[in-house]
Amino acid sequence: MTVTTDLVSYEDALSAYDPVMGLEVHVELGTKTKMFCGCSTELGQDANTQTCPTCLGLPGALPVVNEIGVESAIKIGLALNCEIAEWCRFARKNYFYPDMPKNFQTSQYDEPIAFNGYLDVQLEDGEIFRVEIERAHMEEDTGKSTHVGGATGRIQGASHSLLDYNRAGIPLIEIVTKPIEGAGERAPEVAKAYVAELREVIKALGVSEARMDKGQMRCDVNLSLRPHGREEFGTRSETKNVNSLRSVERAARFEIQRHAAVLNSGGTIVQETRHFHEEDGSTTSGRIKDNAEDYRYFPEPDLVPVAPAREWVEELRAGLPEMPRVRRNRLREEWGVNEHDMQSILNAGAVDSIVATIEAGADSASARKWWMGELARNANETGRAIDELPMTPAQVARVTALVASGDLNDKLARQVIEGVLAGEGGPDEVVEKRGLKVVSDDGALGAAVDEAIAANTAIADKIRGGKVAAAGALVGAVMKTTRGQADAARVRELILEKLGVEG
Ligand code: ADP
Ligand code: MG
Ligand code: ZN
Repeated sequence: MTVTTDLVSYEDALSAYDPVMGLEVHVELGTKTKMFCGCSTELGQDANTQTCPTCLGLPGALPVVNEIGVESAIKIGLALNCEIAEWCRFARKNYFYPDMPKNFQTSQYDEPIAFNGYLDVQLEDGEIFRVEIERAHMEEDTGKSTHVGGATGRIQGASHSLLDYNRAGIPLIEIVTKPIEGAGERAPEVAKAYVAELREVIKALGVSEARMDKGQMRCDVNLSLRPHGREEFGTRSETKNVNSLRSVERAARFEIQRHAAVLNSGGTIVQETRHFHEEDGSTTSGRIKDNAEDYRYFPEPDLVPVAPAREWVEELRAGLPEMPRVRRNRLREEWGVNEHDMQSILNAGAVDSIVATIEAGADSASARKWWMGELARNANETGRAIDELPMTPAQVARVTALVASGDLNDKLARQVIEGVLAGEGGPDEVVEKRGLKVVSDDGALGAAVDEAIAANTAIADKIRGGKVAAAGALVGAVMKTTRGQADAARVRELILEKLGVEG
C-alpha cells in the first residue's frame, strides 16, 4: 500500500514543537488458564477448542477471577513502583465487535489494581529518564477474526470472516503511562527504551514471556505536539498495536513529522486511532476515537471486588526479583566490561547464558568470549536466538575447563563447540570422537619437532645463531603437521632445547 502523507523533516518538527507521548502496553499473562474461566491458554490449538460458556459469553455463565492473574498484576504494579489498591473492582467496557462474544470486555476503569508508579529507563547515552506510570489494570483479551476471500486480509473485500475464541478471556495487563513530557527530540528513543525496559521487567517477574513478535506484548503509541512554551497539550493520535521495539520508535517519529505538517499548514489533528505499517514506517487513519462515555463503563456485577490483603502484597514485594536495570549494572561491574560491550552482550541476548556458564564454573572472561564469539556467530548464521542453540551453559563451562587445564587450546575448543552444535554429543564426547586433545607428551611432539627442524634448516640456523624470535616459524610448522593439536608452549621449549639455545 502506498499512502502519501505530508511530512516535515524531523529536525524542523522539533524546532517548532514539543512532543507529548502516552504509551499503553498490553501484556498477555502466561497463566495456564484464562482470566475468568478454567479454559486453557495454550497457543496454537485448533480454533474454538479452548472455550466454555463463560468465555463465549453465553447467558447465565458466571466468571470467577484467576488468582494468579491478580497476583501477576500486583507483581507488575510493585515492580513499577505503584501503589496497590486496597479494594478495586472490574468494570464492563461495552462495545460491539464480533471477536468479543460478550459484547463487553471485562476490564477495570476508575479503580485499577495498581496506580501512580514510575519506571526509570536508561537511554543510549547512559542518561536515566523517568517514565511515570498512571495505572496498571487487569482485563481480558478478545478473540481473533480472520477475514477471508479478499486480497489483503482486511475486512474490506473479504467474502466472509472466521472467528476463533481461543484467545477470548486470556488475561491481559494494560500498563498506561502518564503523559511523557520533556523528552524533546529523544521522544521516540524514550518510547522504545521504555517498552524495552518494561519487557525486561515483565520477563524478570516471570509473569509472561512478553514476546512482541507473538503478540504477547503490544503497544499503543499516543502522541501530540504543542508549540514550544505552550502548557496545554495538543490533540493526540493513537497508533494501535505496534508490535516491535523498532516499530514503537518509528511510529513515534512518523507521527511527530505528520502532526507537524498538519499543524504547520494550519490544520487540526483529529483524535483518532491509527494503523502502523511495518513496510515503510508510516501510519494511516483508523477510527475516530470513542470517548469513555461511549463505552458505558459500569462495575461488573458478576465479580466480587478484589481486595488484596496487605500481608499478601508485602509478601509479593519481598519476593520480587532483582530489577533488570540493577542486575545489568551489577553484572557489568562484576564482569568489568564497559557500557558499549555490555550493550553488545544485551543485544546478542547472551546475558543469561553467560551468567549460567559462570555459575557452572567458568570464569567470566572465558564465558563472555565463547558466547559472544563462536556461539553468537552460529546463532547469527543459523537464524536462532542464542539461548535456543543446542549447547548448554554447562557444556560451554566444560569447554572453558578443558582450555584452562591445557587439554584444549582455543583452536581445538572452537572445533569442540562446532561439534556440540552439530549434534555430535557433549564436549567430552566430541573431544573423544574427533580426537581433539592437545598433544603435550614429549615423545609424540619430539618427532614432529625433529621433522620441522630438518625441513627448515635455514630457520634452525638462525635460531642457533641467537634469533630466538624465529622459533615462531618452527612452532607454526609443528602446529600444521599436528593439525593444531600440539601444545604450542611445549613445542617452543622443545625446539629451543634441541637447538641448544636458552629461551
Ligand atoms: P484511551 O483509553 O482513550 O486510550 P488512556 O487514558 O487509557 O485513554 O490512554 C491515553 C494515553 O495517552 C495515556 O498514556 C495518556 O497519558 C496519554 N495522553 C493523554 N492525553 C495526551 C495528549 N494530549 N498527548 C499525548 N498523550 C496523551
Ligand atoms: Mg488507548
Ligand atoms: Zn472459557
